[in-house]
Amino acid sequence: MSSTPQPIRGTQSLIGEDADRFHAVIAAFDRVRRLYGFKRIEVPVIEPTAVFARTMGETTDVVSKEMYSFDDRSGDSITLRPEFTAGIARAYLSEGWQQFAPLKVATHGPAFRYERPQKGRFRQFHQLDAEIIGAAEPQADVEVLAFGAQLLAELGIGGVTLKLNTLGDAASRDAWRAQLVEHFASHRAELSEDSQARLDKNPLRILDSKDPRDKPFAASAPPMTLTAEAEDFFAAVRTGLDAAGVAYELAPHLVRGLDYYRHTAFEFVTDQLGAQGTVIAGGRYDGLIEQLGGPHTPAVGWAAGIERLAMLMGAIECKPPLIGVVPDRPELCAEADRITTHLRKNSVAVYRAHRGNAKRQAEVARKNGADAILFVRDLLFNRNSLNLSVCPGSLYESSNLDLTVLVYLPEEYPQLQSIPDEQ
Ligand code: ATP
Ligand code: MG
Repeated sequence: MSSTPQPIRGTQSLIGEDADRFHAVIAAFDRVRRLYGFKRIEVPVIEPTAVFARTMGETTDVVSKEMYSFDDRSGDSITLRPEFTAGIARAYLSEGWQQFAPLKVATHGPAFRYERPQKGRFRQFHQLDAEIIGAAEPQADVEVLAFGAQLLAELGIGGVTLKLNTLGDAASRDAWRAQLVEHFASHRAELSEDSQARLDKNPLRILDSKDPRDKPFAASAPPMTLTAEAEDFFAAVRTGLDAAGVAYELAPHLVRGLDYYRHTAFEFVTDQLGAQGTVIAGGRYDGLIEQLGGPHTPAVGWAAGIERLAMLMGAIECKPPLIGVVPDRPELCAEADRITTHLRKNSVAVYRAHRGNAKRQAEVARKNGADAILFVRDLLFNRNSLNLSVCPGSLYESSNLDLTVLVYLPEEYPQLQSIPDEQ
């Protein structure tokens, strides 16, 4: 006997409630992005490796150790997207989307990172993504943040804090970098090996380290001193958030895991998922499109982990009722089919079991989530089996144990003919 292949580590296959929650997150995202006037886009899962390597930063964890990259059959280096932003920026340039600037776009789909799998951390995970490209105004930052906050509210996710920071402009950032190097260099030997390497290449990254050896020194690092211009920008973002009713906490040491951020950087964080507490993260990336060879293009956006949101969301609301339609005997199958078609065409969800007798079919329908069973039966056939006092010609509703039972009587009664033939 041949052995069954096992799934790739860090991938998931979902069924039932889990899959429903996953898709409820996407459905809520789609509703909210329409409310914000964001266009839906689709972008490839595979991109030339350079799209990510040039934009996300060589020394970031994602580029240095997490990317799924391979040479395809013609020897081109291809990467499975570890995130959306860089690929969207590539499309913005190569697909002529610049004509739509400022462009508000939303998408979702799988992303891939070679990480250590754990709760809320996968190798194939899925992101929601929202971006405004070609907008330098702080109001754009406010709009994407309000979008994120409204999404969380629509999903019924509470207990999430918006942590907000500014990474300043190039001038504030260069000055800060020098201060950080000085600060961390005086503790070099006590830092993790990774952070010792970061100190030379990319000291800001140390602030984002998850290694406990680095955390005390990250916490005692000096805050950034902003230029007047960066200060004004950040003040405008905060004023806008107040006006939009979006609560936030300032987080002066928040840096993002990717290098391309400028000015606003943020994370929506929960304490309910352990170390995987960031549910939505993003910021302003005014320099990214230039790194892909495009013109200076200010932009801001975020990405959210669908799996993490699905774990946090409340019960799925407004699930439409599902009706099991069950013919009492095989001869009534065609009538049941006709009723099923009619109901579905009128947006009533129907479960059909197909196999076994009526009792068995009703059980199977219930197991698959039917809220009520519509038995299709002859008037005189088996009429008392459910202890209903049946009057001719109507849809009967009664409570049989814990289940609503609908009885629908075909053939003899004219009301039944009011269901039109839908051939
Ligand atoms: P973390 O700090 O948890 O590693 P990150 O900073 O690497 O997150 P981003 O690159 O900002 O994450 O991605 C945006 C969002 O995508 C995260 O906030 C998270 O919800 C989700 N995400 C990122 N990596 C994973 C993963 N491996 N598995 C599941 N979700 C993920
Ligand atoms: Mg990460």
